[in-house]
Amino acid sequence: MSAIDLDFFRLDNQLSDEEKLSRQTVRDFVRERVNPIIAECYEQGRFPKELIPEIADLGLLGMTIPEEYGCAGVNSVVYGLTTQELEAGDSGLRSFVSVQSSLCMYPIYAFGSEEQKRKWLPEMAAGKVIGCFGLTEANSGSDPGSMRTRAKKVKDGWLLNGSKAWITNGTIADIAIVWAKTDDDTIRGFIVEKGTPGYTAPEVKHKLSLRASVTSELFFQDCLIPEESILPESKGLKSPLMCLTQARYGIAWGAIGAAISCFETAAEYAKQRVQFNKPIAAFQLTQEKLVRMYTEICKAQLLCLQIGRMKDAGQLQPAHVSMAKMNNVAIARECAQIARTILGGNGITGDYPIMRHMCNLESVYTYEGTNEVHMLVLGKHITGIEAFA
Ligand SMILES: Cc1cc2nc3c(=O)[nH]c(=O)nc-3n(C[C@H](O)[C@H](O)[C@H](O)COP(=O)(O)OP(=O)(O)OC[C@H]3O[C@@H](n4cnc5c(N)ncnc54)[C@H](O)[C@@H]3O)c2cc1C
Repeated sequence: MSAIDLDFFRLDNQLSDEEKLSRQTVRDFVRERVNPIIAECYEQGRFPKELIPEIADLGLLGMTIPEEYGCAGVNSVVYGLTTQELEAGDSGLRSFVSVQSSLCMYPIYAFGSEEQKRKWLPEMAAGKVIGCFGLTEANSGSDPGSMRTRAKKVKDGWLLNGSKAWITNGTIADIAIVWAKTDDDTIRGFIVEKGTPGYTAPEVKHKLSLRASVTSELFFQDCLIPEESILPESKGLKSPLMCLTQARYGIAWGAIGAAISCFETAAEYAKQRVQFNKPIAAFQLTQEKLVRMYTEICKAQLLCLQIGRMKDAGQLQPAHVSMAKMNNVAIARECAQIARTILGGNGITGDYPIMRHMCNLESVYTYEGTNEVHMLVLGKHITGIEAFA
């Protein structure tokens, strides 16, 4: 059976040898080390923490940050191709890398002091220090400006009080990048270390999505945060939003990986599965489903390579990222649903990756700006009128 051409528009001709090699390396890692265990991890509700040293050795943590901080210093396209391959394995694994890289290492790199960068970034690139990013609260999701967590200036630093909800990596994190309002209502970022008195991070249980990922609540009760732990260049809501733009960029690519995994599984299955004396791939209705998936995947790939090149050229705006995140996660979710129908009853089992991707993509659709929020960002871009409130 011939393999499906997943490079229909010959985008590989536009990739450098380094970019192709990096993609192949991550693809091999996912096939050899992730795919054999991920269905079981998902069923057990367990993040495969044992893979962290290998992920670090491959240079996948904070990979766009310069080498002087112990990182790989690669371009944004390599980062995108990496998240694509990781999410072909599982969205939970990609979430781990996105959070560590874009939501924890990036803010330290962008808003941290030189001392903070030298202290944390090499350890984080090596996977020895794990981070989490605390912005969302129980009553403050799409509207993070309404957060209630407070950092009060005191003699020796800052007194942190409040809580965060839905925090990826929270329970396993050695440090949390926490966003809180200071006395003048400005939002600032703080590095909160595990073990700080008054800081707890219990895990959220009973999730039916992203089960191979740790999600937690964070609680801060009179936590004394030393002065040297505030991110000095973080100023206002714009700072966490800049982190989210970095992560959303990786998610736009990552969603293609999940979509490809669903599409490839369904296409192969359709060629093998015989009903009415024919492979189900021979029915026009099945072909229409395959064409829909294939077309959306090809379009998403074109979009991502373009935003990757724009990012490296310094031309990428948050609205571009909103369109890519909104579109690619939506089409990945649709591909999972279509692919599931092609597998019939087999589609609902853990023997195939489709149902797992489908459940995962429900979280991906909602986190890092819901589909609706990105729609409104683009609505504002087109009309100049803000329709959020
Ligand atoms: C598995 C998982 C992991 C996560 N990891 C992290 C993390 O690491 N760090 C972190 O800080 N957060 C994290 N989040 C939180 C995530 O970013 C929020 O769930 C998301 O921002 C949405 O917030 P909410 O759940 O409070 O929904 P709400 O904001 O209450 O939204 C509910 C619904 O209302 C819609 N809505 C809201 N406002 C508007 C509007 N103005 N116009 C139209 N529709 C609107 C939304 O689109 C959505 O459909 C995670 C979430 C999940 C599920």
